Amino acid sequence: MGKPTGFMEYDRITARSVEPKERIKNYNEFHVFLSKEEQQKQASRCMECGVPFCQSGATIAGMTSGCPLHNLVPEWNDLVYTGNWEQAYNRLHKTNNFPEFTSRVCPALCEKACTCGNWGDPVSVRDNEHGVIETAYERGYAKARVPKVRTGKKVAIIGSGPSGLAAADQLNQRGHLVTVFERDDRVGGLLMYGIPNMKLEKHIIDRKIDIMKEEGVTFVTGCNVGTDKKAADLLKEFDRVILCCGAKNPRDIKAPGRDAKGIYFAVDYLSQTTKSLLDSGLKDGKFVNAKGKNVVIIGGGDTGNDCVGTAIRQGAKSVTQLEMMPCPPTERAANNPWPEWPKVLKTDYGQEEAIAMFGNDPRIYQTTVKEFHKDKNGNLNGLTIVSLESKKDEATGRMNMVEVAGSEKKIPAELVLIAAGFLGTENYIAKAFGVELNQRTNVSTPADSYATSVKNVYTAGDMHRGQSLVVWAIREGREAAREVDESLMGYSYLSVQ
Ligand SMILES: Cc1cc2nc3c(=O)[nH]c(=O)nc-3n(C[C@H](O)[C@H](O)[C@H](O)COP(=O)(O)OP(=O)(O)OC[C@H]3O[C@@H](n4cnc5c(N)ncnc54)[C@H](O)[C@@H]3O)c2cc1C
Repeated sequence: MGKPTGFMEYDRITARSVEPKERIKNYNEFHVFLSKEEQQKQASRCMECGVPFCQSGATIAGMTSGCPLHNLVPEWNDLVYTGNWEQAYNRLHKTNNFPEFTSRVCPALCEKACTCGNWGDPVSVRDNEHGVIETAYERGYAKARVPKVRTGKKVAIIGSGPSGLAAADQLNQRGHLVTVFERDDRVGGLLMYGIPNMKLEKHIIDRKIDIMKEEGVTFVTGCNVGTDKKAADLLKEFDRVILCCGAKNPRDIKAPGRDAKGIYFAVDYLSQTTKSLLDSGLKDGKFVNAKGKNVVIIGGGDTGNDCVGTAIRQGAKSVTQLEMMPCPPTERAANNPWPEWPKVLKTDYGQEEAIAMFGNDPRIYQTTVKEFHKDKNGNLNGLTIVSLESKKDEATGRMNMVEVAGSEKKIPAELVLIAAGFLGTENYIAKAFGVELNQRTNVSTPADSYATSVKNVYTAGDMHRGQSLVVWAIREGREAAREVDESLMGYSYLSVQ
């Protein structure tokens, strides 16, 4: 432990955010990080606890507490404090293939489980991680490590999201020949076409992909496996296949008027905007534009928040976000103690921007859509929304959200974005390989395994566990890689943590 009194001497300071009214003028990342010296001070707040919950990744009360990658947080915090940035990078990179992604988009499960956070403010672990990885790029520590020996075994990975990339990186480092097939025109999965540019600038992905290419990973973009390339051919060509295709199947809203023109799924909307931004700086106009429109986003979660931020940048006239569930408390409830994941109200960047622009939080809780209205040309022009309350279903004993009679209200809307969650794997790819699905339409595997029902075919990430987080996708990719390696070589020294 570098500085025993660090957490008492220094208050938590995190990266400053550019003011909402300023940052909405563009799609750039908007955090202004601390200097290296300031970040070192922040790292000295880490107490190197005897039992560090930050790196536990344990399931408590059904939710993950601490880092699923078991990042060696106290170790690299200490190395940052003492200015050993290269060792800090080596320590961090040992468990996390992509700190450049997690230090930008992870909800920082580590910080919610930090012991300092039990009594005061947690250590700024995510910003420390950002300092480590950006220093590594700046000073050249983050560079290609070309494997010295090749095994001659060939692995195909379908999907280039964080799970596919993590599996590719691990297996390539082990010496196998890895090809990643991606149906989109760019690599990255939801990191590229999902998470908006202001949360993760896309050159950050390209920077890492360039290193992976130099290290020997082959990327084939614009190839839809199951359509452009047959599953049977891949199984002949490669020794193993790992399906990392995500869980992009969106949950729809079934209400009268759903066929109105002006209703889109959130990920389609977000990815069009990013593609246009990257292709032409938004000049090609090939995206749904919220400019001048009353926008209603159905879904109060993180994807909905990304739509709020994007619609505001496009110049929406108003933004409303509908959430079925009640507003969470602002403080931990008594039955949700540290180090459990805190079920508390989070006001994210998009919502902050809505407050700055329109003077109010865009979220309306315990509310859903009852009907979509359209004009004579079929264009959406409004919604009927209705309040919900929690009621016990006498037959099942379960609590359900039910409509409050007479609470219907009409609101204007020319654009609706559906961010109501995901329903699992897109069926065609599962069908192409003949892999079994479970009841939640994720690809089924035995417990603690990534092997599907089809010989030599494995799976990882959202396609396996359902829509989740980048950090979980990386962990699954690493674990699947280890299992594939073992199956190819009879043993594996690939670390999963
Ligand atoms: C809008 C949005 C914002 C999010 N924000 C965050 C966040 O801030 N932090 C966080 O931790 N998580 C976030 N998530 C969740 C996170 O992005 C996912 O959990 C993670 O990307 C899953 O990784 P994956 O590799 O399993 O799949 P994905 O990232 O979904 O990648 C799957 C890839 O497979 C490709 N593919 C599918 N089928 C085929 C095929 N047949 N042939 C070839 N390629 C194919 C797809 O094109 C895609 O590129 C967000 C999700 C969404 C939708």
